[in-house]
Amino acid sequence: MSQEFWDRKAEAMPIDELKLLQCKRLQKLVKYVYTTNQFYHKKLSNAKLKPESIKTLKDIEKLPFLTKQDLRSYYPFGLVCTPMDSIIEVHASSGTTGKPVVGPYTKNDVDLWGEMMARSLYANGLRKKDILQNAYGYGLFTGAHGFEKGAQKIGAMVITIGSGNTERQIDIMRDFGTTALACTPSYSLHIAEVAEAKGLDPAKDFKLRLGAFGAESWSEEMRKTIEKRWGIVAHEHYGLTELIGPGVVSECEYKKLHINADHFYPELIDPSTGETLGFGEEGELVYTTLTKEAFPAIRFRTKDLASITDEVCDCGRTLPIQSRIKGRSDDMMKIKGVIVFPSQIEAALMQVSGVSDNYQIVKTKQGDMYSLSVEVEPSEDRYKEGHLDDFEKKAENEIYRILNLHVPVHAIPPKTIPRSTGKAKRVIEK
Ligand SMILES: [Zn+2]
Repeated sequence: MSQEFWDRKAEAMPIDELKLLQCKRLQKLVKYVYTTNQFYHKKLSNAKLKPESIKTLKDIEKLPFLTKQDLRSYYPFGLVCTPMDSIIEVHASSGTTGKPVVGPYTKNDVDLWGEMMARSLYANGLRKKDILQNAYGYGLFTGAHGFEKGAQKIGAMVITIGSGNTERQIDIMRDFGTTALACTPSYSLHIAEVAEAKGLDPAKDFKLRLGAFGAESWSEEMRKTIEKRWGIVAHEHYGLTELIGPGVVSECEYKKLHINADHFYPELIDPSTGETLGFGEEGELVYTTLTKEAFPAIRFRTKDLASITDEVCDCGRTLPIQSRIKGRSDDMMKIKGVIVFPSQIEAALMQVSGVSDNYQIVKTKQGDMYSLSVEVEPSEDRYKEGHLDDFEKKAENEIYRILNLHVPVHAIPPKTIPRSTGKAKRVIEK
């Protein structure tokens, strides 16, 4: 059992105590939003609910869901529950699919965020002596700021480099003796690729030992690839602007994603009916922020598909465990009646020897139907070897083994697919 926790009392709390705390916090939250925010007041009144209606934790199921559409309707500050002058920091999502989601924070919210990120990074193994290269994009996006707050709370040194300028990332990483890297998993691989092109061995020529990755979905197979390439331990981070940013879960040394459920109450629902699902089933994650002030989210539908368990973890944490995200319901594709997630294709490709980490899934619309193909770069060496039809066949077989679906694979020359310094674009539509 791990002897090290950032906050033992909270992370190893007896389950009954946790449930009692969650219930108290939920009751307080419902009363708070009912009395401070018109939208929530109306939403609860329409459902014939009052703060007194919440007597047990199970009563949360009576509360209406909060959707992304609600957030857009009340853009930018319609859901704020505090006086505007209590807000000291604001973040927002990129808004690529519509109006951005705005995340306002009071002083207490900022403290909570730092605390949650410290908990997560400490669970990953980050300590005061570490030097964290923060290669998430700074700006409105929550990522970089969350990692900075958490790492500084632990007392680690933060290199505030931001994303991009990959050559400089490599110089700084060597000169400053970086021990931990925070960025998207795909960007970590791009940094490795550029380092290799400079004649460096990422696993040997750097002091890096820890990776804190998130903001895009990546498979377990991709994790193994990254760990091997860099010679590090790679940890997953999960969070949403709607909830707080990163810091919703803490991945322990056994690579279990413990939900920080004393502050973020998790539920799992059937995405088509909204019905509550039990532990072990797979469905859409729904989260309630139990303690946030400026913008509390009640039963926010994340569209992320996963499962939750209450299995006992060897690390000693009692906090419930969330599975890796299988995909977003928005990313789910139905091809010839088969449900396909990009992460499944990635997992299949990673089994093929001579594959690089760069691939794109091409969705082509023909009438009302979609067909799928994959473009993948073999490694430089494998490309030079030739016989690429063997490589393609092997990849097609691996995909068939997982999906029971024939998806044509095309090997394309190395360095053809545009590299990203943030979220990689894995699916393109033609
Ligand atoms: Zn654990």
